[in-house]
Amino acid sequence: MTVRFSACIMAAGSGTRAGGGEPKQLRALAGRPVLAWSAQILADHPACDELIVVHAPGQREAIMAALGDLSARARFASGGATRSAAVRAGLAAVTGDHVLIHDAARPFLNSETIDALLAALEDAPGAVPALPVADALAREADDGLTPVGRDGLMRLQTPQAFRTDALRAAFEAAGGADFPDETALARAQGLDVRAIPGDEMNFKLTWPADFDRAERLMAGPGAETVTGTGFDVHRLAPGDGLHLCGVFIASDLRLVGHSDADAGLHALTDAILGAAALGDIGDHFPPSDMQWKGADSARFLTHALALAGEAGLTPVHCDVTLICERPKIGPHKAAMKARLAALMGLRPERVNIKATTTEGLGFTGRGEGLAAQAAVTMRTK
Ligand code: MG
Repeated sequence: MTVRFSACIMAAGSGTRAGGGEPKQLRALAGRPVLAWSAQILADHPACDELIVVHAPGQREAIMAALGDLSARARFASGGATRSAAVRAGLAAVTGDHVLIHDAARPFLNSETIDALLAALEDAPGAVPALPVADALAREADDGLTPVGRDGLMRLQTPQAFRTDALRAAFEAAGGADFPDETALARAQGLDVRAIPGDEMNFKLTWPADFDRAERLMAGPGAETVTGTGFDVHRLAPGDGLHLCGVFIASDLRLVGHSDADAGLHALTDAILGAAALGDIGDHFPPSDMQWKGADSARFLTHALALAGEAGLTPVHCDVTLICERPKIGPHKAAMKARLAALMGLRPERVNIKATTTEGLGFTGRGEGLAAQAAVTMRTK
């Protein structure tokens, strides 16, 4: 009889060591949050009966947004202050006889590891993927390094798999004590935990370099990289503010145009369409069409991204140059970067905003208009 399981995904960490300013499980990897990749592998396994996601207090909405369509299949638990308290919260929501507890930050889990864990649970109350240590080990102190023998040492990964009642009993016996993982907790209570072969690919995203490695792995050896450019101009006139790169700038100027005249977003939208070889913004959003009058240009960008996505492309980087004497762009760069990162589904490190003038020359120099250039790099999925 095949062992069936409940998946419990731990997404309650703050994960700041990986950089990027947001919890690492919410960061985009190949255009999709890390959490969604990790959860999908478990949810798609034929023996998975339920998906429980443990999040930090107050993070429910962000976690649901990160899961996308998968959130409809998930139930949620709010995590505690420690690893063990968070797992305990998830465990309380489990209804199945077996549970696989997985770190959200391990998006490269494969189904063979799940199969091996389930097979091991037929003979033991616990199972964990384990790998030998290849590097030499040492402990660092004030007087230098002291080598530590690696014989018999193993690196433990997740999912860590347990019979639900056995793990619940171990938690009960452990009281409120915190453990680095469930194997440590289970072993402290004398539970038998079997090692199954771990997988080097199933690494945990911890440091910024891990994200770069993960992006390369997601791209695969056959991935293509394409680039698009865009250029746009709008007239400036006296007014009460303007939108640029999706950010409102209070000003005594406005940008004149059929939509909200956000030249930054228009140039970027054209760059996306360029990368996907799908024509230009005028082809898709004709100025003659009244439905675009006064439109929020973020809609154009989102639509272009969706079209590029249908063409198999996902963005990896964008760079926008704004050319004007006024308004001053500098004070708004950080907000623009954050806004474009959110719209593009990119990490802030993959979004750049530049500003320049034309030294008083030409229409931008005379303040008659504002120009924007953009370049976008996209990769086949
Ligand atoms: Mg335009």
